[in-house]
Amino acid sequence: MPHIRQLESHVADLIAAGEVVERPASVVKELVENAIDAGASAVAVEIRRGGMGLIRVTDNGCGIAQSELPTAFLRHATSKLRAPEDLGRIGTLGFRGEALAAISAVSRVEILTRQRGAESGASLHLEGGVPAAVEEAGAPEGTAISVRDLFFNTPARLKFMRKDSAETAAVAGLMQHLALSHPDISFKFTKDGTEALHTPGDGKLDSAVYAALGRDFARDLVPVEGRGGETAVAGFVTAPLQGRGSRSMQIFFVNGRFIKSQLLTAALEEGYRNQIMKGKFPGCVLSVTLPVSAVDVNVHPAKTQVKFAREREVFDAVYHTVLDSLERQGGPVSAPAPAADTAVNPRQDFFQAMDAKTYRQQGSGPAPAAEKKARPVWNTEWKAPAKLSDSQSGTAYRTSGKTPAVPSGGSLGAPPSVVSRPPLRETPAAPPPRPPEPPAAPQAPRRPSVPAIPAERPEGQQTLEPAEEIPWRLAGEVLNTYIVCESADGCVYLIDKHAAHERVNFDRLKSAKVPPMRQTLLQPLAAELSREDGTLLLDNLPLLDQLGFGCEDFGGGALLVREVPADLDAAEISATLEELAENLRTGRSAEERRENLLHTMACKAAIKGGWTSDPAELRVLVEKVQSGEVKYCPHGRPVAVKLTRYELEKMFKRA
Ligand code: ADP
Ligand code: MG
Repeated sequence: MPHIRQLESHVADLIAAGEVVERPASVVKELVENAIDAGASAVAVEIRRGGMGLIRVTDNGCGIAQSELPTAFLRHATSKLRAPEDLGRIGTLGFRGEALAAISAVSRVEILTRQRGAESGASLHLEGGVPAAVEEAGAPEGTAISVRDLFFNTPARLKFMRKDSAETAAVAGLMQHLALSHPDISFKFTKDGTEALHTPGDGKLDSAVYAALGRDFARDLVPVEGRGGETAVAGFVTAPLQGRGSRSMQIFFVNGRFIKSQLLTAALEEGYRNQIMKGKFPGCVLSVTLPVSAVDVNVHPAKTQVKFAREREVFDAVYHTVLDSLERQGGPVSAPAPAADTAVNPRQDFFQAMDAKTYRQQGSGPAPAAEKKARPVWNTEWKAPAKLSDSQSGTAYRTSGKTPAVPSGGSLGAPPSVVSRPPLRETPAAPPPRPPEPPAAPQAPRRPSVPAIPAERPEGQQTLEPAEEIPWRLAGEVLNTYIVCESADGCVYLIDKHAAHERVNFDRLKSAKVPPMRQTLLQPLAAELSREDGTLLLDNLPLLDQLGFGCEDFGGGALLVREVPADLDAAEISATLEELAENLRTGRSAEERRENLLHTMACKAAIKGGWTSDPAELRVLVEKVQSGEVKYCPHGRPVAVKLTRYELEKMFKRA
């Protein structure tokens, strides 16, 4: 990195002053941009109390030389901007040599840095902009800046700060945008000790989208790429069928900077004309690149507005690129989401301690593609364990031609060796409603009277289609909980049937393509709930209806239940309603509440460990696991454990 020196005053004067530090998010923005400028490939951001307590940005960039450390905090000190001509670059990131000075003026700053290749690092503490002495310190290569007690010396500013939660949300939004505009950098964001975002930094926009915006958003995206005049457009847009309820998922970058623009929104939406439902909006992550001279640089770098010199050109470029891509897509087809092992789980529960790759390498979960060289054949027959010995030669897998028809269960959407998630196969049509049935007989273990996992193909079709090849054999079930299955490459899988089924349910509910099957109770049930729960649920009857509950007001906060989801155990109705009320009470956002409700329903409707299951049901679950469609339960716990032949042989001292 070039030496740091003070800007010439005429250059400095050219720069509109503008307040650099408005709120915690502006500090994060400046520090992360510095990290990016420093060539970092990994940037970690940690905040506490909305950033008012602590903001720490750690990077593995070029670092700052010990001798230049104090200079970096001087006003207009920069290693990036030399001449007035460079001001054009302000169109992308703020290179004003002001950030560190401004931030340190209104907080307590600690910086620890080591230049690449330097023998030792250095640290510096500043309080209200006043530096202490630079000290030699041990540090990893790169820079870590901690900003504490923001605005501690500007009480007026402090008074106008919004709630911590609002500041946290602003930083979280910023982190999403930073991550999406730099897929080549791995971003990690932690708020109050909880990891909220972690992108792989593999350079692929789709993995960044998956990690930053969630699997659901990432699933049905259409890649777009095009140009018009000097305007290039690239990124992803949602499939027309995946319209969203608001414009909040329209994310635009202009020359790498996140911006909001009515022009871009209009151009995008024009591309969806007559393709999207009324009241629905497309989502996108779209990057618009054009010469800096074609964007108004006088717009404040911290703001999200932009002015284009040639608006028509930009509009047309976006509109035509989107339209062409949607047309080429040829209708509402699901695009596969990025492979789970290249993207970080946006749910942030299971992967907090482990990423998918490590998980796989450690031998759990379905085998990676590379291990499945030979493609053996689907054996659909329920076999007695005695047959196990046949398969040791590896030839016991029958060819599809000889295989009897599949009693139930669907075919694979993709060859099993493909790790990426195949499009979800849905029940072809909502099955006819089942007659109401009384609660299950009181024999143990209890389970609902309807099959927990509906067959995925209509009965009549089964013999018409040749069975597809699939490299596993269902060996049986142990402890009424774990499915045992064997894959042709000599691995044994133990699958937690409840966890797997919960995931299947969750995905089905979440896709909301098929409304949940309902059963009418023989006798309506007056749910015994607390007044608070009852009132809360009554306020949300339409939501309950979507989940499969037909309820009405029974007076006095009580709920009369007439219909319940078909796969719900009658004895669980009250407990489920209570849990749903709890979900409604505790969710922090509408999105989170919905997720929690779906979790509850998925769990309650799943077959339980301890229940006796039909082999056909188990087979459906094995198939979902083996195809890679189901990997983790909605809570992020693993669904399957794999034992390789070698591991087994070691256990028995054969190897
Ligand atoms: P600017 O980024 O506009 O140059 P700043 O006040 O943000 O001004 O930073 C001043 C200087 O400090 C930068 O030009 C750069 O040389 C150095 N610097 C700041 N942050 C980092 C970092 N994370 N890694 C390496 N150098 C940095
Ligand atoms: Mg800077």
